[in-house]
Amino acid sequence: MSKELDKEYYKAERKAEWRNKLRKEIKSKERTNVVRVQMPEADPNIRNKSNIEVNKGLTLEMAVSESSRCLDCVVPTCVSGCPVGTNIPKFVKYIESGDILGAAKVLKENNSLPAICGRVCPQEIQCEAQCVYVKKLSKEGSAIGYLERFAADYERESGNSSIPELAEPNGIKMAVIGSGPAGLTVAGELAKFGYAVTVFEALHDLGGVLKYGIPEFRLPKDIVDFEINTIKQMGVKFVTNFIVGKTATIDDLKNEGFKAFFV
Ligand code: SF4
Repeated sequence: MSKELDKEYYKAERKAEWRNKLRKEIKSKERTNVVRVQMPEADPNIRNKSNIEVNKGLTLEMAVSESSRCLDCVVPTCVSGCPVGTNIPKFVKYIESGDILGAAKVLKENNSLPAICGRVCPQEIQCEAQCVYVKKLSKEGSAIGYLERFAADYERESGNSSIPELAEPNGIKMAVIGSGPAGLTVAGELAKFGYAVTVFEALHDLGGVLKYGIPEFRLPKDIVDFEINTIKQMGVKFVTNFIVGKTATIDDLKNEGFKAFFV
């Protein structure tokens, strides 16, 4: 998967003084000699008797070291492999600079589910497969997924979780049918544009396939709930036990003022 990259935008961003300074601190040759981080895993003897998450996440030291591998490329090909166009070099360089909350904010600019995506996106065939390390240097790609998870977890655990910038409310009602990853993503993005979003979920619990399709040891349910809660803080309403077509029809919802529907 690859998308057209706005090269001029990324070139201009890269010229920021803090990025220039950071790049000069370590020579590219030294950066490419850093060994890719290994994800720490829970003890198999504990895992086989419980449902705890297998991947434990990076330490701050590991994350800063891994972020130093990133070359802050003039043309960040990694971004073209990201379905939501995350500004990868910017968030990675924030981690290298030690501003982890800054990194988390960059992630949330166009992705309301960074802790989830950092765990379950197939980065090895998306962003990481497009990294210059893979494309040109025949090395393992920058561990973008691990770093995404690190920044999102760090922010959550810090108690200083931010919500993205929201446009002024425009009063236009939008209905999202289903609270799985697609519905949550659309709800979060529409909320940023100021729409009045309601998510209708047929089941009693929110999250769709994120809850019933991915096991706890791969994606803990409290992580899903935390990110749904962030979307709630952005003003999105959630209604459970509501089957569109049965509890109410599309026409009923249109009569209630909903202007568009995402199914
Ligand atoms: S392609 Fe790889 S090295 Fe270059 S900016 Fe993206 S993550 Fe960093």
